[in-house]
Amino acid sequence: MFKIANQPRETLSKRRFRYPAQLQWFALLAALMWVVGALLVCRELVTEKLNQSLQLSQHQLDNETSLIARVFDQNLHQAEQLSRTLSFDRSYWKVLKDSQLKNDAYSSMDITGLREHIFNLENAVETNEQFKTIEREINVNQVFMLDNKGYCVASGRSGKENDCLGTHYDNRQYFVTAKAEGTGRQFAIGRVHSVPSFFFATAIADKDNFLGVIVLRVLTSDVVDFIRLDRSLTLVTGEDGVVIAGSEPDAMFNHIGMALSPLPDMSKYRSLYKKNTLQPLPLHLATNNMSDHFAIWLWQNQRHLMSKQEVESGDFYIYRFTNIESAFARARNHWTLSIVTVVAGLLIILLVERSLNFSAQRKLHLAQMSKTNQQLSEASKKLYEQTITDHLTGLYNRRYFNERLNKEVNRRNEHTSPQSNNGEPLSILSIDVDRFKQINDRYGHLAGDKALKTIAEICKASVRPSDVVARIGGEEFAILLPGIDKMGAQALAERILHKCAATEINFEQSRFKQTCSIGLAQLTANQTSTQLLSQADEALYLAKNRGRNRFVIAE
Ligand code: GH3
Ligand code: MG
Ligand code: MG
Repeated sequence: MFKIANQPRETLSKRRFRYPAQLQWFALLAALMWVVGALLVCRELVTEKLNQSLQLSQHQLDNETSLIARVFDQNLHQAEQLSRTLSFDRSYWKVLKDSQLKNDAYSSMDITGLREHIFNLENAVETNEQFKTIEREINVNQVFMLDNKGYCVASGRSGKENDCLGTHYDNRQYFVTAKAEGTGRQFAIGRVHSVPSFFFATAIADKDNFLGVIVLRVLTSDVVDFIRLDRSLTLVTGEDGVVIAGSEPDAMFNHIGMALSPLPDMSKYRSLYKKNTLQPLPLHLATNNMSDHFAIWLWQNQRHLMSKQEVESGDFYIYRFTNIESAFARARNHWTLSIVTVVAGLLIILLVERSLNFSAQRKLHLAQMSKTNQQLSEASKKLYEQTITDHLTGLYNRRYFNERLNKEVNRRNEHTSPQSNNGEPLSILSIDVDRFKQINDRYGHLAGDKALKTIAEICKASVRPSDVVARIGGEEFAILLPGIDKMGAQALAERILHKCAATEINFEQSRFKQTCSIGLAQLTANQTSTQLLSQADEALYLAKNRGRNRFVIAE
């Protein structure tokens, strides 16, 4: 494990990166809160909208139901009014009056005799014909008349089977009420014609003499025929909560349900509806009622709104239901749309944030890379310079000199014919310091170094920048002179020799001068770099032999 000593634990870069991390968490938290908040608001809006639409539906339903109740009421009154109008027709009185005179004997007659007797009552045939016409012309199921004791003495059905003539109806509620109060009404399912009907009775009296009643029978289905016209569930019940008409045939004579009306007395139910068992309808209040303005009812597993209207001060009730599943489906769709929108929004934000972050990171990365590249190339440049530089003198070293020499020689050999070298000339100087060992011995190694540096400076100062000056051995130098021939090289050699001999080297207390010997060679046709070098070395050897501090030109 490496540990960098004296390094502060929290470095600058660490601190710089912890802050954005906290920011990211904060942003994530904010995004989460935003999603939750947005969804809560959406849910509030969707619920509000659903509530409004249900309230509107409830309002419409109430309007429809009260319209139905009004029409229903009007139909009842029309029938009632008709029975009242008929009661004023004095031509019917004759039958009743005639019957009143004779009806004490009716109880002792058998039905065939009684019927024959009734047919022969005064004005009986005409009255029956008139009733027949009324039945035909107006939408009435039956018109008949009961005398003061309740015997049926005239009927629009006379002559037909079950025309009821002679039948004793004195215990019928409509008869009893009409006798006592002038008019009577009753809902009943006929014993002979077993269809649910309304009976409207009006008393006929000659001053205080009660003569009988005229009765109109109207089928319930005819009174409420308008409720079948639309598809909404509509039920009509009596005050006992039993369905007597409606848009749902299966609901007939069932109870509307305990939630809406108490159960009727069973014996009354049996006698009135001719049914032994009473079935409550499967209508329930939904548990998740949402508002004070409406209640939700379940009918056949579907949610409904309900509106209730009473008719004839509670004699009848109209219940109308409207299916609201589509409103819930709409709300569900809105809710789904809200979720999708909120989540998609968040995803888009995330995507944008990620891509921005990514491009920023990419830029940073590229910048870092280019900086590293630059540092690397600088380092490699330095390294290269180090590999081609002599440390003591700062001149090029032997390796670089050889490289350049090879290059220059090859270039010339490629561009000139093998026979002649009439292209650009190339010369080299091979320089060796004279009796240098003695300098070291006499003045010390460091002084020797100083001498080497001085000679290097002299050489460097004497050439053009394009010439290559190198230290190729301990106290040996070489100069590559592209474009310079023997003559030029000779002049340079003279200059260097002169300068060396003239320059005094100071090192600490020592003062001395240092000469050199130079071998000079010019590249000839088809010559290799090694050959050129050894030529120059040979010339240098000659210069040494001839007494040093001189140059020799290679032949
Ligand atoms: P000659 O005139 O024949 O060249 O005689 P010389 O003494 O120069 O030749 P020799 O080859 O005998 O001696 C070369 C000396 O150069 C030997 C060595 O101590 C010295 N030398 C080589 N490299 C360095 C160096 O980097 N610094 C110093 N101070 N001396 C060096
Ligand atoms: Mg030497
Ligand atoms: Mg030497």
